[in-house]
Amino acid sequence: MRNGDVSFWWHARGVPPRHQSLPEGTEADVCIVGGGYTGLWTAYYLNRAQPGLRIVVLEAAFTGFGASGRNGGWVTAALPGSRARYAKGPRGKAGVRALERALRDTIDEVARVCQAEGIDADLVKGGTLSVATSPAQDARLREQLEHDRAWGDGADVSSYLDQAELASRMNVAAAQGALFSPHCARIQPAALVAGLAEAVSRAGVDIYEATPVTSISPGVASTPFGDVRANYILRCTEGFTARLPGLRRTLLPMNSAMIVTEPLSDQAWAEIGWDGYETLGDQAHAYMYAQRTADGRIAIGGRGVPYRYASGVDDRGVVTAATVSQLADILRRMFPVTQSAKIDHAWCGVLGVPRDWCAAVHLNRNSGLGWAGGYTGQGVAAANLAGRTLADLVRGECSELTQLPWVGHRSPRWEPEPLRWTGVHGLYAMYRTADRMESRDAGPRTSPLARLGDLISGIPH
Ligand SMILES: Cc1cc2nc3c(=O)[nH]c(=O)nc-3n(C[C@H](O)[C@H](O)[C@H](O)COP(=O)(O)OP(=O)(O)OC[C@H]3O[C@@H](n4cnc5c(N)ncnc54)[C@H](O)[C@@H]3O)c2cc1C
Repeated sequence: MRNGDVSFWWHARGVPPRHQSLPEGTEADVCIVGGGYTGLWTAYYLNRAQPGLRIVVLEAAFTGFGASGRNGGWVTAALPGSRARYAKGPRGKAGVRALERALRDTIDEVARVCQAEGIDADLVKGGTLSVATSPAQDARLREQLEHDRAWGDGADVSSYLDQAELASRMNVAAAQGALFSPHCARIQPAALVAGLAEAVSRAGVDIYEATPVTSISPGVASTPFGDVRANYILRCTEGFTARLPGLRRTLLPMNSAMIVTEPLSDQAWAEIGWDGYETLGDQAHAYMYAQRTADGRIAIGGRGVPYRYASGVDDRGVVTAATVSQLADILRRMFPVTQSAKIDHAWCGVLGVPRDWCAAVHLNRNSGLGWAGGYTGQGVAAANLAGRTLADLVRGECSELTQLPWVGHRSPRWEPEPLRWTGVHGLYAMYRTADRMESRDAGPRTSPLARLGDLISGIPH
């Protein structure tokens, strides 16, 4: 089994030729720090709207080195935040509904750009299934559906599938039911970010790789090779943000780990089903997420080691043996036919989590500093929407996007160490215990331990 090496997705696709590092200090209209989805989508839309702008992207490693080249490949319309918290903004509930609609539309927008730019990212809009594998998980699914209905979502947004309806799509062992939403697509994440970088570069945006930004101040992004002076400097560094001076407690770098099987046999697929290529998750507190890949594998992820002390980040994405076996156990429990399937690759990456679990998009027109991120693991579609929004903000456009409630949303800072480490590890220990208790218990009650964890952490539901 290959372990680390950034991700299976990059290994399968092959890393494209690298862009050069910044040769010397330079000037630009807009300087984007970070070459993941957020940075590249922002560059893409800015360039489309105003082709004459000089846009520079500075990337510490290579484009797609971060979560954008490592993720589970769900282009999901799930809200990267809390409805109740966003509803406290000036537009109230209507603002939240507008944000949710915009996220749903974003899936088609990503598909449209892939088509227009010739990006083959294995995109299939098959929707998403959230399965319950215990009575407590099933009760949470039904609670979720009630909550969605109370917010006005109809069956076009989410619907409950009983065991037989689920089995007509996919055979998941011990599944009690599922929620289905059509608003999700499956992609090969590295293929998307590579295609996007090519499109942006083709259009005249300068991408400099192996160029770490060491500090950002109004009008200046400093690197070891010189400064980039620009009217606007946009920080698009999500899970890596804590490495920049003064931002250690802004976004917590939460770790997520994945494994991928070897290609499964036709016989195994006949047993599993999954012909609709829905993305798949569960309702565990330490939840899993999965996709059926274009070449017939299952890629499955979960939390693993949730957080490294002092907001540390493991560059190459090496996963502990314990995490690999936890994920393999989940895979084999859900799909017993994968019992003897080899695990080909394991890797991990970091995503950015704000203290109140609500993503945000910011631009201060006076200082020219902006940023977007904190998508809490739901950043693939959200980064496109954030990129379009940042582009409108930079251009001074007052649009439907710039009125969305995550624009200007402020989250509190994370606690200092050692509280941060203790809190996150304590929370996931509680969640794992709660999951074990719920799977042993035949009752529909969510473990009080998990409720307490949600309360302390502020994780929205
Ligand atoms: C394992 C995993 C699974 C996930 N699964 C999903 C999923 O299925 N669906 C979903 O919606 N979301 C998922 N996410 C989250 C999603 O991938 C991210 O939210 C999204 O990719 C963030 O994009 P980004 O461009 O903001 O950040 P990133 O992709 O992390 O890009 C940031 C870039 O900035 C660069 N950088 C950092 N610091 C500097 C600096 N100082 N100077 C220059 N460059 C710098 C980094 O090298 C990196 O390339 C997952 C995340 C992980 C880790």
